[in-house]
Amino acid sequence: MTIDLPLQAPSAAGLAWNVTPNAEARSEAEREAILADPGFGNHFTDHMVDLCWSEKGGWHRPRVSPYGPIELDPAAAVLHYAQEVFEGLKAYRHADGSIHTFRPYENAARLQRSAHRLALPELPVEYFIDSLRQLVAVDGAWVPTADETSLYLRPFMFAKEAFLGVRPAKKVAYYLIASPAGAYFPGGVEPVNIWLSTQYARAGRGGTGAAKTGGNYASSLLPQAEAYEKGCQQVLFLNEGDRLEELGGMNVVLVRKDGTLVTPESDSILEGITLASILRLAADRGHQVEQRPVTLTEWREGAASGDIVGAFACGTAAVVVPIGRLLAEDFEIVHSGPAAQELALSLRAELTGIQYGRVEDRHGWMLRLDA
Ligand SMILES: *Cc1c(COP(=O)(O)O)cnc(C)c1O
Repeated sequence: MTIDLPLQAPSAAGLAWNVTPNAEARSEAEREAILADPGFGNHFTDHMVDLCWSEKGGWHRPRVSPYGPIELDPAAAVLHYAQEVFEGLKAYRHADGSIHTFRPYENAARLQRSAHRLALPELPVEYFIDSLRQLVAVDGAWVPTADETSLYLRPFMFAKEAFLGVRPAKKVAYYLIASPAGAYFPGGVEPVNIWLSTQYARAGRGGTGAAKTGGNYASSLLPQAEAYEKGCQQVLFLNEGDRLEELGGMNVVLVRKDGTLVTPESDSILEGITLASILRLAADRGHQVEQRPVTLTEWREGAASGDIVGAFACGTAAVVVPIGRLLAEDFEIVHSGPAAQELALSLRAELTGIQYGRVEDRHGWMLRLDA
């Protein structure tokens, strides 16, 4: 298979990408078979993008290469001390065939904030955007066309220096890989049940909760397994003083009877781009939006008095999903009324409408990647 790209072409960001086409790229028929039912995170495109960083040389060696294993020294710091950060965003196919992504400058800025917290170098925003363009230039055919499908983009950065002393690594790698994603809810969006974890926390004050780093996910796996045992799909974490935090990978929003949306604020919550966008769309519609500390007691009492009529979770993968039930060791909150669910679904429809080019992008959130 040949890929129509000049080798070593200087890009808009000024990087001279070294492009090695994948001689074993999947055929169109193989690709189409995967895209017909991609699932999530199972399949990867034919190429990957990477850049190196060293203390002496800064960011260098921009490459587009065949997708494949990474060679790492067994002493690479990431394998021992988890100095790693990542991002997650999607490429969407519009009706005219063009390929777009959603608020990538926010992801670029968040990757820098996460990197700062993990003592990793900050990738320049333009390099981040350029990496997305490079991958789409070679693997654009992997962006599926069916409703609610996308190409999930996974940028990540890790300490690759071989050194067992504990200090920030002097050699770091940035990679971008991509994985076609099917519709998250093929049978329509269903409310989820959430398990309240009281034994475990995902983050503490001053910790890494606000950074998108693998360690937060590692520590959520055991409580997540507990959630499954209790018949729940997700787990809700609390912080000190019974304050609501978030789910393992999604932010939470409570819906009050008067339409006010309330989302917890704390310096250990990951600042979701989906959350910010949903709150913005709601505010545009005239909803009051409150971002402030919220306690579990407030949710319980509000649900009991009828002031809080529902809740939903949001994040890039699932977009928006209503919460039907919060289950705890010794109580539960049930939100079965339609009002909050309908609001969540209508905000979801507006946001996905923008992402797929069906609804006017009045905030200028979309960026075309294939031109
Ligand atoms: C990525 C992530 C989210 C959601 O962020 P989006 O930008 O909306 O995808 C929420 N919580 C955690 C812990 C995350 O890692």
